[in-house]
Amino acid sequence: ATPTALMVGTGRGSQLGILIKGPQVLERTRRIDTIVLDKTGTVTTGRMSVTAVVPTAGFSSSSLLSLAAAAEEGSEHPLARAVVDHARETGVALAAASGFASHAGLGVTAVVDGRAVTVGRAAWLESEWAITVPADALSSFEAEGATPIAVAIDGAFAGVIVLADTLKADAELAITRLRDLGLDVVLLTGDNEGAASAIASSLGIDEVHAGVTPAGKLEVIRELQAQGQVVAMVGDGVNDAAALAAADLGIAMGSGTDAAIAASDLTIVSGDLLVVADGIRLARRTLRTII
Ligand code: ADP
Ligand code: MG
Repeated sequence: ATPTALMVGTGRGSQLGILIKGPQVLERTRRIDTIVLDKTGTVTTGRMSVTAVVPTAGFSSSSLLSLAAAAEEGSEHPLARAVVDHARETGVALAAASGFASHAGLGVTAVVDGRAVTVGRAAWLESEWAITVPADALSSFEAEGATPIAVAIDGAFAGVIVLADTLKADAELAITRLRDLGLDVVLLTGDNEGAASAIASSLGIDEVHAGVTPAGKLEVIRELQAQGQVVAMVGDGVNDAAALAAADLGIAMGSGTDAAIAASDLTIVSGDLLVVADGIRLARRTLRTII
């Protein structure tokens, strides 16, 4: 492709709301045959809402919510924002947290009012913090397609906060367009199997990898590449950064985190999934006319 044509393609991309990191990216965009989509914040709006707060016997809903929200205040994860917003909306006071630490794709820890608070995936509370989470505490919510997160206070399981996610308005159409371009579509998420398959079946996506850690997302990309596929990854989170960098083409949602944008070749400024298909079509068209 001539440099001039690539510059024209890049300029056309920016008109579509696609920021392209260098003209050579268009060549790679044209070659992809598989597109891997993160769920939360990419296929879904990322504006999650709290649907239930379920404390164990020692806690009230408001005390559980208050401690969990204080711990989540330092996190930019959609789940964390939803928990904090829900606390504010229901008039629950938030104490200041200290010693905050965020573990991408797993959860957060902090000290609130002198108590150790851990919020995140049940399996992570168990493996990393030796907290026993009752086997049935989350499963009924997961079976319904919801996203429950576990809360522990001072090293003991203290309850569950249940969240719900909403598909982006154009998600279904966008996936149809991607498939019409001949791409294999894969859903990849750290969320549980139940929530992932509810979303996948509503979109007609057959290949789903759920409960995947950030390192696991990277592995899924590598496995697809080892099978000879040329892979684009679309994501928005810190948890997607390694996978975005490893993919043949990394596509970040402009609505997402700086880490995802820095790791990517393309940024969809609006976060609109339909624009992903526009970008691929643009690359194919630009390069077809000039080679
Ligand atoms: P996705 O791949 O869908 O974007 P993530 O990898 O970010 O999801 O998160 C996977 C899981 O890790 C969540 O469903 C949740 O159980 C847990 N998790 C991640 N971040 C947080 C957080 N800030 N607070 C609570 N749980 C979290
Ligand atoms: Mg995400």
